[in-house]
Amino acid sequence: MDIINILPDSVANQIAAGEVVDRPAGAVKELLENAMDAGATQIDLVLKDAGRTLIQVTDNGCGMSDSDARLCFERHATSKIQRADDLFAIHTMGFRGEALASIAAIAQVELRTRQTGADIGTRVVIEGAQIVSQEPTACPMGTTMTVKNLFFNVPARRNFLKKDAVELSHIEETFRRITLIHHDIGFSLTHNGKKLYDLSAGSMLQRICGLFGQPMKERLYAVEEETDLVKIRGFASRPEYSRKTRGEQYLFVNGRFIKHPALSAAVEKAYTDLLPDHSYPSYFIGLQVDPARIDVNIHPTKTEVKFVDDHALFAILRSAVKRAIGQFSLATELSFDTPEEFNIGPAPAGYVPPEPKISYNTGYNPFKATSSQTHLRMEGLERAKREERIEQPRLTDEAEEIVDTPTMQAAQTAACMQLQGRYIATPLSSGLALIDQQRAHERILYDRLISSQQSAISSQTLLFPVQCRFSAADAELFGELMPDLKGYGFVIDAMGGCTFVVSATPAGVNESTIQELFDQMLTDHKGASMQKHVQRSQCLCASLARQMAIKPGQQLTQEEMQQLVADLFACPMAEMSPSGKRTITIVKPEELLK
Ligand code: ADP
Ligand code: MG
Repeated sequence: MDIINILPDSVANQIAAGEVVDRPAGAVKELLENAMDAGATQIDLVLKDAGRTLIQVTDNGCGMSDSDARLCFERHATSKIQRADDLFAIHTMGFRGEALASIAAIAQVELRTRQTGADIGTRVVIEGAQIVSQEPTACPMGTTMTVKNLFFNVPARRNFLKKDAVELSHIEETFRRITLIHHDIGFSLTHNGKKLYDLSAGSMLQRICGLFGQPMKERLYAVEEETDLVKIRGFASRPEYSRKTRGEQYLFVNGRFIKHPALSAAVEKAYTDLLPDHSYPSYFIGLQVDPARIDVNIHPTKTEVKFVDDHALFAILRSAVKRAIGQFSLATELSFDTPEEFNIGPAPAGYVPPEPKISYNTGYNPFKATSSQTHLRMEGLERAKREERIEQPRLTDEAEEIVDTPTMQAAQTAACMQLQGRYIATPLSSGLALIDQQRAHERILYDRLISSQQSAISSQTLLFPVQCRFSAADAELFGELMPDLKGYGFVIDAMGGCTFVVSATPAGVNESTIQELFDQMLTDHKGASMQKHVQRSQCLCASLARQMAIKPGQQLTQEEMQQLVADLFACPMAEMSPSGKRTITIVKPEELLK
């Protein structure tokens, strides 16, 4: 008995359709891409019921001739094959003339199109892959594709659709992935009669704001880089605007949205030390690479790609983002020229200025640098200066070695004032800088601790060694951390059992608080080791820096403040404390005027 049947075309088409269009968002993507391929400068998307009952895309692109308007619904009908070389390979691979055939197999479609230069347009109606009618029609130049009742003949698919809110959110995400990178094209999205987006052609930043709201403008830094291998253009969020979810993270390659865990990791890596736990940066970054350097042997309907130069790309991207978030704000804003004179305006009538108060340095002085500490700092500055003169190294496979150029210049002596025992105010040409003394000091100490692992150790020997005791479990943990602690300038001996003797500490540690310092450090370490991505050394240094830093309420002398400001500006990531909080706010002249 023969049991093999040939599937009727309609069934075969429906099955194939499922691969291209599995939900309304899939059809939206295909239609928007076709409109862009037609060279449109304005594309309008209209939806009803999250695309279930209506998806309509109108473009002002090149349009189609009478016969093309019929042909385009045939499987393997495409005008793009001869152009495949110029197009991003994964774009055309696997989509060779399949989309419209697929959509027409599972919906009622009406096409109205008029070719550039033609007097009259054409209207084609097709339903379940059968052409119902074709006639001349008056219509504007370009194409309108109207897709009604998606999956009308595939109940299984239709029943699988989620609530409108869910389907609409898929469509919106598709819309963002396309419109973000094609910001030179105007787009709109209307749902159930309500215009959700109206995006005029413009810069990428304008597009980001159009999609995610105007405040984004203040929250992003530009990321730019150009090498033989790749051209990078985009935006990444300032560390203080990180989010608790990995929401707004967009990578594009040659104009197409991609998912690439390693490249995403490269971006996030640039934020190491800058973000609080469980926070993620937002980014919108486009890469241009030679299509020949992309491996296309990857499933075409997926957003995954493989690059030949994976490693180098990773390093370039990371360093570009790092430079963007570390460099732009302060490097351009801070300069230590004589401050401009601000017109503060007259005092309100009857205002009696309070008598100026001078604060003394009463307490302990955290800045009495030991010689080795000074040495370290000087060495840091020297190194910074040297690196400034080095050109960006050529890209090789060792691109990991790229040095980030230093961004801050050490402050020359500008007058400082302490406010409320916790902020340092100092004038800059771009405004008035307000520096949080504790966070600033945390940043300085953290950088010193982290770097002291490789270079000189600034250690102070205690006159009387200090004994520390821990619970049995903590003692074991402490024993494990001892090698790290030695790297930071502690000299510790295990006395057996749960007792340890500390005979030297990093400069600046108050010896009466050593036990407390270690207890807190162990607590922090236990907390951090729950999260795999935090490196042990980062956690230890952050914990130590936080505890060693000067606290609010501590009065500082003029000299100390100037030193603190200078040291802060010598740090590559001066703007942020190790835990990701802002160290500096700049009050702009306009704001002072108010
Ligand atoms: P592909 O895009 O892979 O070529 P499609 O099935 O999506 O396959 O489209 C088939 C053909 O129909 C395209 O190659 C193009 O020539 C034509 N086409 C589709 N949409 C439009 C449009 N909006 N404007 C002009 N031509 C279009
Ligand atoms: Mg197409």
